[in-house]
Amino acid sequence: MIYRSTRDNSVAVGAAQAIAQGISPDGGLYLPSQLPRLTLQDLEAMLDMDYRSRACRILEGFLSDFTPAEIRESVEAAYGDQWDNPKIAPLAHLSPNAYMLELWHGPTCAFKDVALQLLPHLLTRAAHKTAGGKNIDILVATSGDTGKAALEGFADVPGTSITVFYPEEGVSQIQKLQMTTQEGNNVQVCGVYGNFDDTQTAVKQIFTDPELKEALAAQNRMFSSANSINWGRLVPQIVYYISAYCELVAAEEIELGGSINITVPTGNFGNILAAYYAKEMGLPVNKLICASNLNKVLTDFINTGVYDRRREFITTSSPSMDILISSNLERLLHALTGADDAAVRSMMQQLSAQGFYEVPESVKQALQAQFFGGFCNEEDTAATIRDTFQRYSYLMDTHTAVAYKVYRDYVAQTGDDTKTVIASTANPYKFAGSILSALTGKPAQGDEFAQLEELEQLTGVPIPEPIRCLNRKSVRFTRTCKREDIRAAAREMLGI
Ligand SMILES: *Cc1c(COP(=O)(O)O)cnc(C)c1O
Repeated sequence: MIYRSTRDNSVAVGAAQAIAQGISPDGGLYLPSQLPRLTLQDLEAMLDMDYRSRACRILEGFLSDFTPAEIRESVEAAYGDQWDNPKIAPLAHLSPNAYMLELWHGPTCAFKDVALQLLPHLLTRAAHKTAGGKNIDILVATSGDTGKAALEGFADVPGTSITVFYPEEGVSQIQKLQMTTQEGNNVQVCGVYGNFDDTQTAVKQIFTDPELKEALAAQNRMFSSANSINWGRLVPQIVYYISAYCELVAAEEIELGGSINITVPTGNFGNILAAYYAKEMGLPVNKLICASNLNKVLTDFINTGVYDRRREFITTSSPSMDILISSNLERLLHALTGADDAAVRSMMQQLSAQGFYEVPESVKQALQAQFFGGFCNEEDTAATIRDTFQRYSYLMDTHTAVAYKVYRDYVAQTGDDTKTVIASTANPYKFAGSILSALTGKPAQGDEFAQLEELEQLTGVPIPEPIRCLNRKSVRFTRTCKREDIRAAAREMLGI
């Protein structure tokens, strides 16, 4: 299988190189030139499999320069007993047609674990195959959850180092503590006075900075990315949508071949893009419902065809979706323009120079045929958490609540009664303060640990172990920098 760059179709690399590099040298994102086909027979064959076997089956179609044994070893290491549920991504039937796909049973309690428990295994093998075993230096820009999941995945992995930048004032207390207490000899963490977009833009520039690349190469090292611009992050996410479909068929909730909708709380457009790829492969999916918070740049894009980041950045209770530049949309544009690399290049240039672009009418129509876009404000996020708990005794986090509300709006507008899988992306305890105030209607009191206890007493839902044990850990990282100093901070932290 050949991977191309979204900005240059003449680029042709294997999966291992796409994963080892993370981003194409032209600044484009790698994507497969053709997707593996998924037939109903393939789905039927997967019905009796466990999550790991389904993962192996699907990954083999994409990672053609990895052996089946390498894939199996990687999958077994990634989806072992660091998960508190043997199904890895279990479904909870919430309301008549809504099924919550719980993606947060991993070691950091957010959906990023599904990909980031696997990525280090793929990446070290990929570096071995394509880069002569160079040391890999991972740089991450995080809106909160990626950082911790990447730290946990890469901690003490031989031949790698990991450096994480997060917005100092844009993450929850628990998210921050999860990162600053990270153990491991190859990890570093730095807070940035700036928002996620500033951080992501600076980090993306470092990857393609010739001077820094050369300085690393002189020490037999190379950069790579653990953000969802890396293909190795996306492909494990395709697995859980296909697996969820199999679960629904196996439980006789739908018939084999019947359609589902998928709703995803969206930030960088990685998770929903994986659902789109599953659909393109042949998974019977009717609508992809893209849910945003008040930073509703994607809702507007789907409804108007104009992507416009020239607006106020709003800090919300769903911080992992506080994003105005959704990197992975670039991959969707490549697909919807019929692989028109020149068009993608010019839209991305316009976005970076002028802050907006508009897609042609045909692309807008293709977009609207497949995607529904909606958003949810802060009051509705809180009300959804409260109502869902009162009605179903089901506690959801702020990001998941955004998705559930937008799903309900979609049903109200369209009357569509298709069974719908809703990506539940974080354990509520990661955002205990926001959840508490949603349930009680009052601002949460006390420090983050008191809030955890209060939430547990109020709901009877147990605090997950990786969060419960945080107060026994010491803070190892206190470094911060201004957004214009990220490059200098990275140099210093990497010793180049
Ligand atoms: C990262 C994240 C999202 C957004 O996912 P994208 O792939 O960036 O669109 C949503 N919810 C949570 C909890 C997250 O951590």
